[in-house]
Amino acid sequence: MLMGPPGSGKGTQSARLAGIYSVPHVSTGDTLRAAVKAKTPLGRQVAETLASGGLVSDALITDLVRERLAAPDMARGCILDGFPRTAAQAETLDTMIDPAELIVLLLAASDEDIIHRLASRRICDACGITQSIQDDTDYPDGCPYCGGNLVRRDDDHPDIVRRRLATYAAFATPVIDFYKGRKTFHVVDGLQSAEWVTAALCGHIDADVTLMRSRTARF
Ligand code: AMP
Repeated sequence: MLMGPPGSGKGTQSARLAGIYSVPHVSTGDTLRAAVKAKTPLGRQVAETLASGGLVSDALITDLVRERLAAPDMARGCILDGFPRTAAQAETLDTMIDPAELIVLLLAASDEDIIHRLASRRICDACGITQSIQDDTDYPDGCPYCGGNLVRRDDDHPDIVRRRLATYAAFATPVIDFYKGRKTFHVVDGLQSAEWVTAALCGHIDADVTLMRSRTARF
């Protein structure tokens, strides 16, 4: 399970880890957004909550994750991204899987560093590629890949980022408190390069899995 504030690189790292370990990337946010887009009954139920930036109910999200974790492609594990978001969800997760087999990786980054990182993030409005700029004179010809306009996402604006970080802290702190005494809880510096972070995360996963394997013949 990967957790971290918005802008910590959690989405990127989750996708990388899923590729490296050939396991599914289970992102509750992506699942809910896809349901909203496809206008399924679930999507209609959660559309308003997603639009407001609030959290959907613990009961709804734990049912969704329980069902996903029971799928056949989960035999070798998965990368959980966006769940658990509350202490109640964390408690329920412990009843769905063996807690000793859960590795919790926290990408740490200070609020000010994240505000700076997201304020300098620009997205190409044509191809969607993300760039980091030093100042507004960077890339005078637009996107270096396709020439499209490089724009700041509305929710990357410092005032909005501060609000997103406050919401994250309010919910994440009890979840971190829930896990921090465990041997399989690790904190990684999310401000290092993406390659460094991936290597650090893999180091923890490999060490923990080796330990788990030495305890049980299941893996
Ligand atoms: P994310 O992409 O992880 O930021 O999730 C997008 C939105 O989906 C959140 O703002 C919530 O409304 C909802 N969501 C995702 N995961 C959860 C969760 N574990 N508990 C409650 N709501 C969630």
